[in-house]
Amino acid sequence: MIKDSRRIVLTCHVHPDGDAIGSTLGWWHLLKKLGKDAMVVVPDQLPRSLRFLPGAGEIAVYTRHDPYCTRLVDEADLIICCDFNTASRQDHLAPLIQGADAKKVLVDHHEDPDMDCDITFSFPKMSSTCELVFRLIAALGYFEEVDKDCATSILCGLITDTQNFTVNCPDPEIYEVLMRLLELGADKEKIIQECVKACSYESLRLKSFAISEKMEVFARHRGILISLSKDDLERFHYEKGDTEGLVNMPLDIRGIVFSIFIREDAEQIKISARSKYDFPVSKICSDLFGGGGHIQAAGAEFKGSLEECRRMIIEALPKYDSYLPSHLERIDWRNN
Ligand code: MN
Repeated sequence: MIKDSRRIVLTCHVHPDGDAIGSTLGWWHLLKKLGKDAMVVVPDQLPRSLRFLPGAGEIAVYTRHDPYCTRLVDEADLIICCDFNTASRQDHLAPLIQGADAKKVLVDHHEDPDMDCDITFSFPKMSSTCELVFRLIAALGYFEEVDKDCATSILCGLITDTQNFTVNCPDPEIYEVLMRLLELGADKEKIIQECVKACSYESLRLKSFAISEKMEVFARHRGILISLSKDDLERFHYEKGDTEGLVNMPLDIRGIVFSIFIREDAEQIKISARSKYDFPVSKICSDLFGGGGHIQAAGAEFKGSLEECRRMIIEALPKYDSYLPSHLERIDWRNN
């Protein structure tokens, strides 16, 4: 299909992350090298952390350039959809992609794809869509065409989806993929600096404040609750993304099994929860707020006050004690 196509569009999900942008740009660099007229079309703006990626500046953003994106999609012979499993994940871009006459290929690692495509590459066991893209490129015989920029794009998704090789990476082969990408010159240090570490001054101050002043420990239930009010957010000039990663931080404490973070946004309370040892935070999110997610990473929204949300969580905690592992180490703290 690549050989038979001249104009190829690469696209991904809304609020694109490192895997979505890495996989589409990875294809883009390869296809350009193969002489194709390739373009990446994304539903909305890239986060700042991904703008360093080679080629990011050439991405067509639908919310900014609707007519241009529409023309690119209408003229495409082939559309490669990356890192999403259902049309609605493309939000307002979905009708355009779904309605296009081009042949469509899905390349994804989420469970149960529900997309009408000519070919579907769905491998939920893959660490990332980028890992799958690398394997497809190699299997297609294009390994020799992968240059430094292509390798950097692909490595970005591997690093972000595995949280820098801490989760979702039990398969030793992932490290062979990593080795190949490094051999090709992928800029690992830059990816880690930009996508794993970099944050703003206010974001670091807000997270530090949340941990030191707004973290409650429920020792008997092995849980942590962090609540941030609108006033807290304003004090640190909150911008979207500033609390990214905060909910994971309390899990580093020895003896803590789960962490819940609630934030008072303009319209609602946003709830995020993370856990270790398969403690079902998804159940807490769905039982209390009708939310959901994975066992160890879940979320929900709540229409009500921050205090109400906090009380609901605290009152419900004893119900989940039975899911705690039987042998747990002492919570590592010096005062309480
Ligand atoms: Mn992904």
